[in-house]
Amino acid sequence: MNYHDIVQQDKLDSLAAKRDAFRLPADTIYLDGNSLGAMPEVAIERASNVLQQQWSLDLIKSWNSHNWIDLPVIVGEKIARLIGAAAGQVICCDSTSVNLFKVLSGAMLMQQGRMKILSQAGNFPTDLYMVQGLASLLGEEHCQLVLATDEHALIDELSTDIAVLMLTQVDFRSGRVLDMQRLTALAHAKGIVVIWDLAHSAGAIEVELDACKVDFAVGCGYKYLNGGPGAPAFLYAAQRHHATISQPLCGWMGHKTPFSFDNKYQSAPGIEQFLTGTPPIISMSVLDAALDVFFDVNMLQLRQKSLALSSCFHQLLRQHDCLQVLQLLTPANPVERGSQLAYQHPDAYALCQALIKQGVITDFRAPNILRLGFTPLYLRYIDMWTAVEILADIVRTEEYLKPQYAIKGKVT
Ligand SMILES: *Cc1c(COP(=O)(O)O)cnc(C)c1O
Repeated sequence: MNYHDIVQQDKLDSLAAKRDAFRLPADTIYLDGNSLGAMPEVAIERASNVLQQQWSLDLIKSWNSHNWIDLPVIVGEKIARLIGAAAGQVICCDSTSVNLFKVLSGAMLMQQGRMKILSQAGNFPTDLYMVQGLASLLGEEHCQLVLATDEHALIDELSTDIAVLMLTQVDFRSGRVLDMQRLTALAHAKGIVVIWDLAHSAGAIEVELDACKVDFAVGCGYKYLNGGPGAPAFLYAAQRHHATISQPLCGWMGHKTPFSFDNKYQSAPGIEQFLTGTPPIISMSVLDAALDVFFDVNMLQLRQKSLALSSCFHQLLRQHDCLQVLQLLTPANPVERGSQLAYQHPDAYALCQALIKQGVITDFRAPNILRLGFTPLYLRYIDMWTAVEILADIVRTEEYLKPQYAIKGKVT
């Protein structure tokens, strides 16, 4: 792959124009959209309208006149289209962690007589912590976390003893993608309720929640959906569970008539029953605007570009003879790979800092992973070329060994 091929790929890229929808700093190659998506231009206009018109001038009337009250549903519907969910099953609210607590608790209530929640040992810590919190509330005899070290072990564990299977589709460290269809079907065959975390899937890979007959799912608004730092998350609950499920964070916004101010909780009939408190209108409005960037994007096309970018990056790294020092942790097979690449290196943290210094923003995951996210909406093939040139140079000159790159901030 040479410079000419790269230029050619950018010319043929049908998503190339989407880059203009984002504001990105000059001289920066942003390979961290898997942690915090870049800012869409529309975010500025929308935030400013919410502050300068809706809040300041229209004040409390805006709950009706600007549809603030419907925002969790409106945003949920926009996300639904990206994750293969029919209308009425996705709502935008709270954080991924809090939403996990709601669906985990609801699922445990559905599974009287079973007490085990099965997950992956390498799952994102917050997912495991939420189970631990629920276990301490319900007591060990009613709730227990079981961890499997890999996919084979996971499948072996699927039995009628398990209440809930809680998995993250794309591993946050390695970028490995689990087979949602197969694992959901295998779990259902044993009567297990299935919850998927789509934190690194939504807006990055094709997801078919309805077709896979998933029970519940959660995911982030600030990663590939570009909703901004701390943007609210989302929750999916399959229609078939709406009439019978209940969840313990039953705040007034999940009540069937919140403004009747009844003392007794009665849940809303649909997906709104998963709401808890008042929606954060400023941040949810920004996420709403950010999702409009996806309106004409075909997820298959997006996935193809994502894989083409990561393949291009890896191939260029090979051409620079870097694959001995940087060991690929992500599966080489594209169908098993999310929208990221992870490389192991003993000085991954320093490497990451040296890259950032030269305008290539990546991240580090303890203990030794250099992680790169490939966001097809705003990355070009030429960015792969430039980023690899810089990385290969840092590796060759051992620039990263300078003491300045060893200093750690509070967030890594
Ligand atoms: C990023 C991420 C989260 C984040 O959860 P928040 O509660 O939104 O901070 C949860 N789960 C996974 C798998 C993640 O990658």
